[in-house]
Amino acid sequence: MKLSFKDILNKKELSRDDIIILLNATQQESKLLFAKSKEIRLKHVGNKVYLRGLIELSNICKKDCLYCGIRKSNKHVCRYNLTDEEVLRTVKYAYDNNYGSLAIQSGELDNNIFVERVNNLLIKIKELTKGKLHITLSCGEQSEETYLKWNKNGGNRYLLRIESSTKELYNKIHPNNETHSFEKRIEALKALRKTGYQTGTGVMIGLPFQTTENLADDLLFMKEIDIDMVGMGPYLEQKDTPLYKFKDSLKPIEERYFMTLKMIAVLRILMKNINIAATTALEAIGVNGREKAITAGANVIMPNITPAVYRENYMIYENKPLPSSKEILVPEKRIKKIGYKIEWGDFGDSAHFKKRTQK
Ligand code: SAH
Repeated sequence: MKLSFKDILNKKELSRDDIIILLNATQQESKLLFAKSKEIRLKHVGNKVYLRGLIELSNICKKDCLYCGIRKSNKHVCRYNLTDEEVLRTVKYAYDNNYGSLAIQSGELDNNIFVERVNNLLIKIKELTKGKLHITLSCGEQSEETYLKWNKNGGNRYLLRIESSTKELYNKIHPNNETHSFEKRIEALKALRKTGYQTGTGVMIGLPFQTTENLADDLLFMKEIDIDMVGMGPYLEQKDTPLYKFKDSLKPIEERYFMTLKMIAVLRILMKNINIAATTALEAIGVNGREKAITAGANVIMPNITPAVYRENYMIYENKPLPSSKEILVPEKRIKKIGYKIEWGDFGDSAHFKKRTQK
């Protein structure tokens, strides 16, 4: 007997085929999906929304990912590096405004100067904030030694997106060389988890060549590696990148947006107590994208607090929103209106991590 959409939603274990059916939900069916993910979210992580003040440290990158606007070969980008003073001033803004945590993101470099710089910043941030802010790092693939060092000096969480867990697709969206090896990325994720970070990953949704099956496999990958947190968002084409030539083969932006919300919802059903971020890419294409993501199951938002003069240079994709006012940065009223609550001053650690490390 063929199960109805509702029956599938109520199954204890979802198979790959079930996940594909859920991801292919129509608008009508998606209401059931979002109702289910909401129920699970409220039960396991409550109506709380955690903040990460996002600091984009530098757009200098040694990588050449075929989708990314700040790839090494893009000559149209004005490269910048925040000074330590600028970083600390931004950190102080977060601290004074009662953020419980920060996310430091950067183009990928692994030379000694960069490694030491991040390390020193971690030490200074800890001093400045008396350890009252937890820190997520998102600075790409590093040696296990570097991961250890940063963790020791205050990096609590690390976000390294696998981008796509399907090797063939991964290889289509990255140059095929040692610097962009799929295996190395997987190894890095394993090293992060071993080192003791709350470990996060994620994928882009609506990439050229990507199928619903690939997306179902991405969710299963996250479950398989038992990830603590996820940040995923729609792929947005960027005109100065090689992948731009496939723009006519892409799904319409509304579909990528809708699929992202369904991915968040199914992930919440699969991994009940992890942290899921409502990413800025979602905000870039949808009106109130972050609130929709929260309704679908996300419990983290990452207001971009990078000093305004640099923000326009961290253009990973086009139409990246450039927030200014406080209510745009943290849409507290709008979040309250839909029944959720910003947890000011809370570290917002992953409940999944706490549970797996308490054992
Ligand atoms: N260098 C760091 C993170 C910087 S970029 C690292 O490797 O972890 C942060 C994320 O932006 C990437 O992981 C990627 O998933 C996303 N991104 C890059 N280009 C994008 C695009 N064109 N559309 C949507 N997301 C993109």
